[in-house]
Amino acid sequence: MPRIVEVLPHDVHNEALVSNVHPVDWQNPEPASRYHLVVIGAGTAGLVTAAGAAGLGAKVALVERHLLGGDCLNVGCVPSKCIIRSSRVVADIRDASQFGIRVPEGTKVDFPAVMERMRRLRTRISDHDSARRFKDLGVDVFLGEGRFSGPDTVEVDGKTLCFKLAVIATGTRPAHPTIPGLAEAGFFTNETIFSLTERPRHLAVIGGGPIGCELAQAFRRLGSEVTLFHSDSHILNREDSDAAEIIQQSFIRDGIRLILNCKTTRVEKRNGNKVIHINCGGKEEEIGVAEILVGVGRTPNLEGLNLESVGVKYDQREGVMVNDRLQTTNPRVYAAGDICLKFKFTHTADATARIVIQNALFWGGKKLSALTIPWCTYTDPEIAHVGMYEKDAEKMGIAVDTFIRPLNDVDRAIADGEEEGFVKIHVKKGTDQILGATVVARHAGEMLSEITLAIVGNLGLKTLSHVIHLYPTQAEAIKQSADLYNRSRLTPFIKGLFTKWLAWRR
Ligand SMILES: Cc1cc2nc3c(=O)[nH]c(=O)nc-3n(C[C@H](O)[C@H](O)[C@H](O)COP(=O)(O)OP(=O)(O)OC[C@H]3O[C@@H](n4cnc5c(N)ncnc54)[C@H](O)[C@@H]3O)c2cc1C
Repeated sequence: MPRIVEVLPHDVHNEALVSNVHPVDWQNPEPASRYHLVVIGAGTAGLVTAAGAAGLGAKVALVERHLLGGDCLNVGCVPSKCIIRSSRVVADIRDASQFGIRVPEGTKVDFPAVMERMRRLRTRISDHDSARRFKDLGVDVFLGEGRFSGPDTVEVDGKTLCFKLAVIATGTRPAHPTIPGLAEAGFFTNETIFSLTERPRHLAVIGGGPIGCELAQAFRRLGSEVTLFHSDSHILNREDSDAAEIIQQSFIRDGIRLILNCKTTRVEKRNGNKVIHINCGGKEEEIGVAEILVGVGRTPNLEGLNLESVGVKYDQREGVMVNDRLQTTNPRVYAAGDICLKFKFTHTADATARIVIQNALFWGGKKLSALTIPWCTYTDPEIAHVGMYEKDAEKMGIAVDTFIRPLNDVDRAIADGEEEGFVKIHVKKGTDQILGATVVARHAGEMLSEITLAIVGNLGLKTLSHVIHLYPTQAEAIKQSADLYNRSRLTPFIKGLFTKWLAWRR
């Protein structure tokens, strides 16, 4: 019998969510005699693999122990973006007077309503990932814990699924830091924070990476006092420092207290509060908070898979080891998504699932290393990046030319009152070959795809200058960066020739 899973709080939305992605009355089918593919894990990677392979006519079994849709739908991208949207409304109301709008005093955040909206929308989106939809697509959906039980078998809910090929798509879970007293004091992770119905009075966020930053800003804007702890001297320290600095300043304006470059030494419970002890360059300090959210990295879901029995090698921190074709150390077993990737995003889970379908079912030669992978952190403003950073190029000994267009020079950004940010594009020195780009803008994620397309399609920066961009749009900053490139080609010699030519034509 499939286990009954619970998503809190109990309400109509979560009931409908569960009935989509882990129906209580689900009957696992009788297994086929043999499957082309048995996919373990039904997050984005597993769902895309199963749907794609079944659509091409393969006999596919999909095994999920918890909720179809995995992290992205249930406790990741979808709920976080829903509450980020509400938090942006708060910021817009806060800044309304700059736009000539007077907002009545006493405008309040209704936190339970914000969370209810999130649950309602998450349930709506969950239709795409529902067990019934996948059954209709021809996939045999098994709810229960999957485990390799022999060289070509997976065991689930007392049934044996025989496979020709298998795919591990079991994803990751939040890493729990080993801070003394933290477990006893209790803390939230992305797996539990979206069940809140009451706003935490004072939220400590441990971890200034993408997940910690997105949620710190959202909760601050929704009215919690927020203290963000990060061990580096800068939040989002993997990004370019000028990009991360813009976000850091935005956090300070939002009223987030930043504790940087400090070590969290222990946590204790005191008078109903949680007290976080830190050491900053030898100086001890303690900070009392109501709740703690931890976002300090991910741990691969490897336990219980019995990978040794099928000769699949793995690393406790990095996950399942794969080659460039996403084959594990057992050529009949592939992996896709967070379980085997450095770049843990929904779009990479999707892209790697597509590689697996081609390579596993059609002897394709699709390679992970051929992917151009963009990413975005959905703070306000957002930071989106693709390709190389300047520091990467330097390490590889590649000389670059960099073209930067600040948004406070872009008409639409000025009109929108969204002038914070820039478009920065690196090209191989002396050429227009785009190597990488960072965009910081309120909708940087929407803007970046044009540059990603240029890299994938081998279009130089010069080509982007020939593309007519709608006026006025913030994406014009990309064309204007390309114009900067064109102007850089105008050497004094060429300029002299043009001047002579034009003088002669007069
Ligand atoms: C707060 C947060 C916000 C995020 N926001 C974004 C974003 O905006 N954009 C973006 O691109 N990415 C975002 N991500 C990352 C994104 O959620 C993941 O990259 C994506 O979910 C990975 O998909 P996956 O299929 O590899 O793994 P998962 O989604 O983790 O799915 C794995 C599935 O396997 C199941 N499973 C595990 N072991 C077994 C087993 N033995 N048997 C059966 N089933 C098993 C699990 O229950 C799970 O459902 C965010 C993540 C978090 C935490």
